[in-house]
Amino acid sequence: MTETKLKIALQKSGRLSEDSHNLLKKCGIGFGSGTGKLRSEAQNFPLEIYFLRDDDIPEYVADGVADIGIVGENVLAESRKNVEIVEKLGFGKCRLSLAVPKNFQFGSVKDLAAKRIATSYPNILRDFFQKNEISAEIHTISGSVEIAPSIGLADAVCDLVSSGSTLFTNGLREVETVLNSEAVLIARPNLDETARKILEKLLFRIKSVKAAAQNKYILLNAPNDKLDEITRFLPGIKSPTVMPLAETGWSSVHSVINENDFWEIVENLKNAGAEGILVLSIDQMIQ
Ligand code: ATP
Ligand code: ZN
Repeated sequence: MTETKLKIALQKSGRLSEDSHNLLKKCGIGFGSGTGKLRSEAQNFPLEIYFLRDDDIPEYVADGVADIGIVGENVLAESRKNVEIVEKLGFGKCRLSLAVPKNFQFGSVKDLAAKRIATSYPNILRDFFQKNEISAEIHTISGSVEIAPSIGLADAVCDLVSSGSTLFTNGLREVETVLNSEAVLIARPNLDETARKILEKLLFRIKSVKAAAQNKYILLNAPNDKLDEITRFLPGIKSPTVMPLAETGWSSVHSVINENDFWEIVENLKNAGAEGILVLSIDQMIQ
């Protein structure tokens, strides 16, 4: 009997490829992905990998050619496909924004009424205009949207932005966010029980990797008479580990801290007398 495998669709080459690959690697799933490869099998997990253009991923998953996939919410929303978002993945963050030429007098989105807007996301943009009760002319183009105003093809654009530098170089100013996006794990509807079980196993690992990314492992040396004060700043998973150092009167303290509070905690620890503070990243955190 052949083993059932879950089929996952990943972007072949592009902004999501490396992060998708790394995520699976941190989940302990290794596979080959040489150039030109369209399909691969994981060595140590029941997973078969398809490498595709990102735009095709929602359709492949909705049609059941693949069981699950990793794709940007922007592509998913534009595709209108019936798939389930299983987990947000925290990478590939960007936003779909409206941008106008620098000299465009922009007060609110109402100023875009009757204007020509170039975009690769006509479905999302149409919904946005409908919600805002604006009637504008949407021009769908598949790439290099940002040059449309300068060649006279459009009055404004609706395009993906992360830093904003591409817009800036093209004399455009971001004026309104239409959609915030990040990479998501999607699944086809009606996965059978075996496939669902493999997905749950994968999801457990993904959540451990995500939790680890938000936390840091911290080690420090503390004089014993300052231990109470120092450990108060370190909640840990249960509570910090305290071990005696070879030098009398000193202890080594280990704990886990949230990345968001990181600098504040380190400053407090230093002020409280901690020395030799080391901060390490965590690969997986099982909760
Ligand atoms: P493909 O050849 O697979 O169709 P593509 O050129 O359409 O690739 P990429 O530019 O690789 O797509 O972007 C893939 C996804 O990365 C986007 O759909 C989006 O979700 C995300 N992304 C993150 N930051 C940005 C950005 N600054 N510009 C464009 N996409 C971004
Ligand atoms: Zn694409």
